[in-house]
Amino acid sequence: MFARRLPQNLWSLLAAVLVTGGLAVYALGLARANQSPVALWLSNGALIGWLVRKPLSQTWSFLLAGFIGTLAAKLYLGDPAMTSVAICLCNAAETLMVGAYIRHRFPQITERTRFLDLARVGVIGALVAAAVCAPVTVTILHLWSSPDLGIRINTLIRAHFVGMVIAGSTSLVMVTRQWSRVEKGKILILIRDLLLLTAITVGVFLESHIPMAFMIYPPLLLLVFRHRFVGMVIGMAIIALVITIVTTLNIGPFNLVAGVTPALRVVMAQVFIGVSCFVALPVALALSEQDRLQHRMRESELRYRLLAEHTGDLVMRIRFNGDRMYVSPSIKDLLGWEVEDFLKPRPDLIHPEDRERVAADVARLRSEGGTITSTYRLQHKNGQYVWIEAFARLVQSPDNDSTMDIIYTGRDVSRRVRVEQALLESQVQLRTITDNIPAVIARVDMSQRYTYINRFVEQVSDDTPAQIIGKTVREVRGEALYERLKGPLARAYAGESVMFEYEAPHQGKFLHFQAHYVPDRDADGAIRGVYVLTTEITHIKNVERELLRLAHQDSLTGLANRRFFSERVSATLKQAQRRKTPVLLALADIDNFKSINDTYGHAIGDAVLSEVGRCLQRLVREGEVVARIGGDEFVVLCDDMDNLQQARAFIHSLWERLHMTVQVGDTSVNVKMSIGAAICKDEISADAMMKLADDAMYMAKEAGRDTYRVLLRGVGDSEEAKVTA
Ligand code: GH3
Ligand code: MG
Repeated sequence: MFARRLPQNLWSLLAAVLVTGGLAVYALGLARANQSPVALWLSNGALIGWLVRKPLSQTWSFLLAGFIGTLAAKLYLGDPAMTSVAICLCNAAETLMVGAYIRHRFPQITERTRFLDLARVGVIGALVAAAVCAPVTVTILHLWSSPDLGIRINTLIRAHFVGMVIAGSTSLVMVTRQWSRVEKGKILILIRDLLLLTAITVGVFLESHIPMAFMIYPPLLLLVFRHRFVGMVIGMAIIALVITIVTTLNIGPFNLVAGVTPALRVVMAQVFIGVSCFVALPVALALSEQDRLQHRMRESELRYRLLAEHTGDLVMRIRFNGDRMYVSPSIKDLLGWEVEDFLKPRPDLIHPEDRERVAADVARLRSEGGTITSTYRLQHKNGQYVWIEAFARLVQSPDNDSTMDIIYTGRDVSRRVRVEQALLESQVQLRTITDNIPAVIARVDMSQRYTYINRFVEQVSDDTPAQIIGKTVREVRGEALYERLKGPLARAYAGESVMFEYEAPHQGKFLHFQAHYVPDRDADGAIRGVYVLTTEITHIKNVERELLRLAHQDSLTGLANRRFFSERVSATLKQAQRRKTPVLLALADIDNFKSINDTYGHAIGDAVLSEVGRCLQRLVREGEVVARIGGDEFVVLCDDMDNLQQARAFIHSLWERLHMTVQVGDTSVNVKMSIGAAICKDEISADAMMKLADDAMYMAKEAGRDTYRVLLRGVGDSEEAKVTA
């Protein structure tokens, strides 16, 4: 695995070996030359920069590279092999601790990482790792020589800590390619600023008489301000290099301190480098954080501007006083106007009918805040009006002057408005039709509540649509009527189209209705209510009754006519046969009626017919039928005779009573009649019974008229009986 990856990383690993080795030679070499402990241990820091950015799988390769680099340096400087291996292992452990801690907190270091947090984690990691590893290193060194343990531990912690912070930041900057951030034109300025810092640092630290170390801060901060991280890390590297060199060469302002020893000079150098670093680092981090935030803000501003510029909707930012700060270019597509035309308020473009409403909406938004939605017409440059649906919100102004802005978005909804208007129009038309149709049209939902009813209901009930809508059928129609309606309603809810008739009281009268219940189905066919179409049919019912009456009544006498008689006779016969009671059918015909007509005229003939009719009507009892079935021919049908004698007695009395004198004005007409009757108890058809009665009539006429004859069937011993008056 390692061998396979080697070619890819070879150059990086070689660089790691050379850098760590080179820095180790530099640090140790300088320290040894002056018999002082190491002042600035940069190797570990340089390696940490690699570790935190490289893939985890390469961690061990780079640790090994660092180990080889520092080991080579120590061996080169003549340190004992075993001790060097042990110290280099200790260095590797320190590097690993810091690298792993940063890695744990920041698995991915990118340009978006908050460098302030990263720096905090790095500093804590470096401090702890240096504090842990320095005693181990000192113990190992103690076995090799015997220096003062206390001084060595302090010095080592500082050297490692400061070295890791400086070199770590430097290598991180290099690895994260912060170099590429330096604009080409600024490279010369960077070089110039670096030269300035170098010159001042060298000048200040070569001066052994006047302490002017603070002079390096202005050029260092200038570097940081101008070049951010890049400026800081190179600047700090230069300062660290110069200070370590002059300190180990025993020159510079630290010699001004009375009784200074080489070890104390190293401590002072470390403290000075550390302080410089802590002056520059927070500034660099803060500036870099500011850059990052500004970059993000620019990005998001760019994103929103991109949205606003390319959306089809009209986007505006309006100041509280009405000034328009931003109008999106979509104004051109939407209304034909240029952005500049719209930067000034143009109330004249609002449709005159909508101006008042829009002004009220805007006033409300200004006074109450929040949001408003308003649909109104704006004039296109071509003169036509476009329906705009606008959404406006009152927000804090981004100008940070504690004023409020209105953010407005509007879109063309002309097509939708046209469709809505057409729908409304057709609804009005439909309502006009339904309200004027002579029928009650209603819809009830699944809970039997009226959701719609037309105005015709006012004609047939005491309620208005407004009083009915929302109530149930039971509440509106009353308990009694609901009992009649609930059955058909249930069938309609079950999916059936039901037609039925019912009566309902209204203003003291009973009205007849014909109702048609039709299920209301949704797009999936599921029933969601019932349509009710109810027609008032009282007048039709009356006409129907009148027609029925006319169809069954003789207009002259008011008696039933032949049709009615024919319909009743069969039913009466069947009923009597079931009860096994005799039935009497008597035909009565006026004798010589023709001569009455001839003698007194047709009108008097009619009067005679009417009087005979009235007389017959009086003679029959409830349930018995009397009808005029021909010109002067009447019929009586009785099915409630107890026996034959009673029947005969009835015929006799009929014959007697029909002897009458009819008085019409001054004219008296004597009326006589012949009666032919049939009395049956057998199963007999209506035709046969009529035939029997007809035969009896014939016999009566044959016998000289003004008499009656009775023929029997199934009621006595003889087939035929004759009774005379
Ligand atoms: P008969 O004793 O045999 O019954 O002799 P009739 O003259 O009564 O003869 P018939 O019963 O056959 O005559 C019926 C007459 O009744 C014939 C017709 O001119 C007359 N008639 C029929 N309908 C009307 C009517 O509505 N009004 C009047 N005035 N006369 C009618
Ligand atoms: Mg007659």
